[in-house]
Amino acid sequence: MAKTIIQVKNLHKKYGDFEAVKGISFEVMEGEIFGLLGPNGAGKSTTLEIIETLREKTSGEVYVDGINLDHAPNDIKKIIGVQLQTSGYYPLLNLTELITLFAGLYNEEVDPLALLDTVNLRDKAKAKFKELSGGQKQRFSIATTLINRPRIIFLDEPTTGLDPQARRNLWDLIRDIRKKGTTVIITTHYMDEAEVLCDRVAIIDSGKIIAMNTPDKLIDELVETGFEKAKEVKQANLEDVFISLTGRALREE
Ligand code: ADP
Ligand code: MG
Repeated sequence: MAKTIIQVKNLHKKYGDFEAVKGISFEVMEGEIFGLLGPNGAGKSTTLEIIETLREKTSGEVYVDGINLDHAPNDIKKIIGVQLQTSGYYPLLNLTELITLFAGLYNEEVDPLALLDTVNLRDKAKAKFKELSGGQKQRFSIATTLINRPRIIFLDEPTTGLDPQARRNLWDLIRDIRKKGTTVIITTHYMDEAEVLCDRVAIIDSGKIIAMNTPDKLIDELVETGFEKAKEVKQANLEDVFISLTGRALREE
């Protein structure tokens, strides 16, 4: 049985009078890809940023690898990988220089080309961030989360706005990262993505977790209630048509 790497207990977050997170509790197991799903404004980013030590919570308890957020947030920072705001990507620096800069901030020795290799961007080593395609930007952003060799990475909507090929490419990358033992917490609005990528998901609505399980079990539970799709279920959908016609190869390079 895998061990718990993140534990959130009765977490609340108020912005003034508005309660964005209303007492949520969940655990993430080591090596899992865990999805936080929910409509805009549900409280996903707030929850992630509290665990990432980037936002103050109002109440509740958070433990990351047994470290209490209230006691040692800096120890948590050392073992997690966080996507930096793209505003921190100095426009005059190329990808290699940015990685060297960020590695310096983390006090880590990193081989920028090897890191760019892991996200398939070695041939863009001398490019500026703004010259990258949407999928490449996301891959670079994921590379920056890996600089401090974290145990856990947090990805907030990494595939929003990407074309189907780039989205699948990112799924492969996320699976590779997990294969190396890193736990992944991801938010997404794409349910097909959550279904194929996440081991377990929590569905958040208006600051509360309304369901949590494996995608498979959640679907079975719905079917058991007598739910049936209104439309005839086909063996493929339009996205399958698109991918089968256009192939899986990335177009941005
Ligand atoms: P999600 O990521 O699920 O879309 P967020 O966690 O970003 O949701 O936001 C949850 C709610 O909290 C939203 O109603 C949002 O408007 C509000 N909110 C988020 N950040 C702030 C802030 N800094 N000040 C006030 N309200 C905020
Ligand atoms: Mg968000």
